[in-house]
Amino acid sequence: MDHVLAPWTPTSVPIHGSDQSFPIRRIFCVGRNYAAHAREMGHDPDREAPFFFMKPADAVRTDGQMSYPVATADLHHEIELVVGLAAGGTNIAVEDANDLIWGYAVGLDMTRRDLQAEAKKQGRPWCMAKGFDNSAPMAAMHPKSATGVIDSADIWLKVNGEIRQQSTVAALIWSIPETIAYLSELVELKAGDLIFTGTPEGVAAVARGDKLEGHVDGLTDLNVTLV
Ligand code: MN
Repeated sequence: MDHVLAPWTPTSVPIHGSDQSFPIRRIFCVGRNYAAHAREMGHDPDREAPFFFMKPADAVRTDGQMSYPVATADLHHEIELVVGLAAGGTNIAVEDANDLIWGYAVGLDMTRRDLQAEAKKQGRPWCMAKGFDNSAPMAAMHPKSATGVIDSADIWLKVNGEIRQQSTVAALIWSIPETIAYLSELVELKAGDLIFTGTPEGVAAVARGDKLEGHVDGLTDLNVTLV
């Protein structure tokens, strides 16, 4: 059957060392998944099950540029390890979850913190605080077949050459396999889904002209200039 509009091609992430790309189906993001970040946001990390929010697939941008978004005066960086799924399912066992991973990339969960604070206060959804245009800059994805399972890599973010966030993926409250398993009890995961796995402590505001440099050991660095 014909569509009434010309169908668009999915937003995709380039693959390191290849001319292929990873097509994005959906973007799931984990909230407060490093204890020190949960505490800096005013929460007790010991008593929380993982929770999730989403960004639209076309929030991803891979060209290294990000325009300062509309409707905020408090844009925050959140450096994150991003997982891309090659396959999905429901009720996935923790011990099977790593088998579903196609690859990994460095990403930023950019956040309009003022809108998020207002949403929290009013008991409203976070969509406009988290899922705005270009809110998910990413670097190239690396296949798990090349990196192996990533579970203890250093992760950091520099802004204008100064360290702002620094931790290790080993500090995740919910490991990546646990996150995949838990999420698969809430929705049926599918090939092409991305999971932003959470950010360590040190989130803060950025301004026009700032240069962001994100790193996870073994992956391509993410370089973003805020214009
Ligand atoms: Mn985040």
